[in-house]
Amino acid sequence: MKLKLLAFLSAILLAVGFYFLNNQQDEVVVAENSNSAMNIAQTDTMPDENYPLQKTEAEWKEILTDKEYRILRDRGTELPFVNEYNSNKREGIYVCGACGQKLYSSEHKYESGSGWPSFWQPLADSLVGEREDNSWFMTRTEIVCSNCGSHLGHVFDDGPQPTGLRYCMNSLAMDFIPKEEIQSD
Ligand SMILES: [Zn+2]
Repeated sequence: MKLKLLAFLSAILLAVGFYFLNNQQDEVVVAENSNSAMNIAQTDTMPDENYPLQKTEAEWKEILTDKEYRILRDRGTELPFVNEYNSNKREGIYVCGACGQKLYSSEHKYESGSGWPSFWQPLADSLVGEREDNSWFMTRTEIVCSNCGSHLGHVFDDGPQPTGLRYCMNSLAMDFIPKEEIQSD
């Protein structure tokens, strides 16, 4: 029992540490970008051509809140446990917080203990895209929305069967639509 508590506390400490490191990295990135006006001008005026939904970063900034923008477009990570959907047990679907594309169902959500909403599969594989993420001296697989390319979270291979996958998502990157509201549409 004591060991479990210790593991739990270490996980929280790690997550909080990771969050602050992540924030620090964002500041470094901003500082680097501000040295190059060209970079900012390009990302603000040219949409990412790899995804069907084309919007410039300037347009995204207009429709997203600052917090949403930091996660979805700046690839940030929110705090574990205190986020909106980690312990949401209602039935419904989760859609992309940027473009509204359907992503996950409550049927595939499970309690991973990570502090972030976790799913063992998306509603369909085609709804999410993968990108290699080499930040923080490790290689992780980033998960993005396949329609607009916005950052959602990461996927790990320590999930439950039948897939063995853990899609670890940011609440701020998604909107939840309760089952009752889907049926009335
Ligand atoms: Zn999207």
